[in-house]
Amino acid sequence: MSRQANDDQERLPLEQGVDLSISRECVYRKFKDHPGPCPHCGKPLRQWTAVYLVATRRGDVPSDTFVISNDDGWFCTHCPTLVINPDEISDFLQMAKPGWDIGEEFALLGIVDLDTVPDDKQHLSLSDPDCPLPLVEFRNLHRSKQSSSTRRPPRSRTQRKKRRRRKR
Ligand SMILES: [Zn+2]
Repeated sequence: MSRQANDDQERLPLEQGVDLSISRECVYRKFKDHPGPCPHCGKPLRQWTAVYLVATRRGDVPSDTFVISNDDGWFCTHCPTLVINPDEISDFLQMAKPGWDIGEEFALLGIVDLDTVPDDKQHLSLSDPDCPLPLVEFRNLHRSKQSSSTRRPPRSRTQRKKRRRRKR
């Protein structure tokens, strides 16, 4: 690894680290300070910095898609579960840069696995169109969409196709 600004690896031994390359189930849970144990397996969760792809919308209209980086995610090191406090993401989005269309609702689509960006692209900003965006989608993405639209007629997959746009 030739990246210099990566001090995460020094903070924790690698085997206790969080594998950001596996597809996880994202659980939204409101909590104060600590989310408690993993909702699936009961093992401890570990707070970890990650980069997320977020989609926002107003009503049914998608407003924007962008990349955020923060340590709001609590990862289970024993099963592929991630706990996120939606209030913290919401706060984060409130402070977002002018020009971003934050919309009224948001959904985290997945984790951007920066380690898989090739070495010759690592100097690029994530907003650079030449930079590949290696998204690891959350595995429960489609299920949660389903449950939030129970009162609606059957979904049309083509209408829900997600738009990927990058902000500069
Ligand atoms: Zn777990």
